[in-house]
Amino acid sequence: MRILLVEDHLPLAESVAQALRGAGLTVDVLHDGVAAEHALASEDYSLAVLDVGLPRLDGFEVLARTRARGKVLPVLMLTARGEVKDRVHGLNLGADDYLAKPFELTELEARVKALLRRSVLGGEAQQRCGALVYDLGTRRFSLHEQVLSLTSREQSVLEALIARPGRVMSKEQLADQVFGLDEEASADAIEIYIHRLRKKLEGNAVRIVTFRGLGYLLEAVSD
Ligand code: CA
Repeated sequence: MRILLVEDHLPLAESVAQALRGAGLTVDVLHDGVAAEHALASEDYSLAVLDVGLPRLDGFEVLARTRARGKVLPVLMLTARGEVKDRVHGLNLGADDYLAKPFELTELEARVKALLRRSVLGGEAQQRCGALVYDLGTRRFSLHEQVLSLTSREQSVLEALIARPGRVMSKEQLADQVFGLDEEASADAIEIYIHRLRKKLEGNAVRIVTFRGLGYLLEAVSD
């Protein structure tokens, strides 16, 4: 899953990004409100962590403009200001959660996971497709209760597929989920990950189906 982190305090941005990447997420990091607004308008994120005090455009304004575009992704606001009126203001603008600085990285990570679980998995702790089970708490896939060993790229592709049951995902949509802003997004690489995933899923009553020219879909095999 790909998320956006917007924080102008560089050491804090770096440590938060590292913690979230350690949890297996693809994280884009931006440091000002204008860049954040553009990225939120053009990229497909599963969640945003948004600082309130940002150069060029503050976090409240970024949030308001993003919601005005009809974007419903979960947004966790970060702020140094602990005042109730700021918290209420953020929530009124459509923030989903709020964390006051200073905070523990483990708390931020737990809240991000909770928001993702609510939005991406519709509140379920687990997502299932035939014998394949995805646990968002541990971020692990298992097949017949055996943990499936995946690289982080393979993991991102499979997460994107299992989060959208019955929907075809194009190579470009998958690449958007797998590669960050500073990486070369390659639709060809997606073919390689799909090939490897197919090998790992082989013979387990779940498969990735190709729709030529359209993309891929994950489905349970019934026989
Ligand atoms: Ca700030």
